[in-house]
Amino acid sequence: KPVGVADIGVTGLAVMGSNLARNFARHGHKVAVHNRTYARTERLVSEHGDEGTFVPSESVEDFVASLAKPRVALIMVKAGGPTDAVIDELAEYMEPGDIIVDGGNSHFPDTIRRERELKEKGLHFVGMGVSGGEEGALNGPSIMPGGTKESYDRLGPMLEAISAHVDGVPCATYVGTDGAGHFVKMVHNGIEYADMQLIAEAYDLLRQGLGASAAEIGKIFEEWNAGDLESFLIEISADVLQHTDPQTGQAFVDVVLDQAEQKGTGRWTVQNALDLGVPITGIAEATFARALSGSVPQREAARAALPGDAGTWDVTDRDAFIEDVRLALYASKVVAYSQGFDQIAAASAEYGWNIDRGAMARIWRGGCIIRARFLNRITEAYERQADLPLLLADPYFTEAVGNGVAAWRRVVSQAALNGVPTPAFASSLSYYDGIRAARLPAALIQAQRDFFGAHTYHRVDQEGVFHTLWSGDR
Ligand code: NAP
Repeated sequence: KPVGVADIGVTGLAVMGSNLARNFARHGHKVAVHNRTYARTERLVSEHGDEGTFVPSESVEDFVASLAKPRVALIMVKAGGPTDAVIDELAEYMEPGDIIVDGGNSHFPDTIRRERELKEKGLHFVGMGVSGGEEGALNGPSIMPGGTKESYDRLGPMLEAISAHVDGVPCATYVGTDGAGHFVKMVHNGIEYADMQLIAEAYDLLRQGLGASAAEIGKIFEEWNAGDLESFLIEISADVLQHTDPQTGQAFVDVVLDQAEQKGTGRWTVQNALDLGVPITGIAEATFARALSGSVPQREAARAALPGDAGTWDVTDRDAFIEDVRLALYASKVVAYSQGFDQIAAASAEYGWNIDRGAMARIWRGGCIIRARFLNRITEAYERQADLPLLLADPYFTEAVGNGVAAWRRVVSQAALNGVPTPAFASSLSYYDGIRAARLPAALIQAQRDFFGAHTYHRVDQEGVFHTLWSGDR
């Protein structure tokens, strides 16, 4: 049995684990491999053994023994209970100074707990966000590792080597202690929900406003992908919309059931934002839009009963309308990202992570699902001002969004008049107007709270806390 030879080990060899193991091996690392069911380990080595050096083990004990010290073991199993079970098993055989990495989609409070527990045993625990799906895992994902700086010194160079690269810069960097990596991955996924919903609304607007076919809209998206909106999600949406269902000859998108599912990272993002009090309306509306689409009995009841009383959409200037939708999409997207980065800042302060937001935008430029040209602009904004209070208020974005505001208003108002739902477009515009408002009706909320609950209020013209003795007289 080989002892102390492998640079890194991967346990959990389903699609993500085996592709990451192959990626490490292709980069010249000796990779220990293990899986609960040994057949997967055998399959990996027999099918891909020629891609590099794999050190297979049947037992966890042998797997740990095969790692060079300080040992690094990467867990790629189902999040939740299975991850805890595998951590416990590994910890049994590891020694102080060794590093356990969880690359699954774990919820960051679990990561904080696991880090605390393993620290007591002298072990480093790295909660690591990995984005890019199976293709990214094999050819270069975006990697968001948390944990101690010390563990990053050992692990970082390997991660940076296997990650995606944009302009020669790796899409992997140290994020912060304990749960920071999984937190940032969670917000990445939340932003992904918003981005997908916004693209879906743009598609719906073009389809209903222009009466255009799915394929025609795919072509429009292709054109958009050559400009500011260039992104993986726009690119794949263009492909999807131009795809024909081979069974029926219809547009593929028309044969897919219109009920969006989710695995839960969007929900976690929104739950955390509620805890922190950060208004991430774009992500929240995107998450609720999926829930609405899946509310089958409610949709049936509503379809049968609720009047629309909407106009018939009559777009006279086709090109101007397409440009309006493009500008509205871009502005809404900036809002969704701005909100996501606000959430990262709030969590960073709350949990003591000191996260560099510009670096997060930089490692999202490649490998991950939200990769986009526009992330360069975000990195530049945080380079101009690291403690920027609001991404939208960076001069570049102020101008970019400002140029589109009139179009945004036309699109959202026309959508409302014509009965087309645009929860993410509309809430993003409301956020924009809310955050820039000189005065908000929150003053009335405070007065109401004081009236019914003696919750007190502050005045605009005097220091201090006030309460009015409400007696009913005005
Ligand atoms: P998966 O389907 O989530 O998990 C299957 C793997 O987990 C198998 O290796 C399985 O072993 C192992 N496993 C399950 N329960 C176990 C237990 N109690 N003890 C030991 N091993 C157990 O695999 P995946 O899709 O490759 O994803 C792996 C992780 O990466 C997940 O946390 C996932 O959320 C995350 N992730 C996935 C993607 C993606 O695009 N798929 C992207 C980023 C992150 P057996 O072979 O013995 O059943």
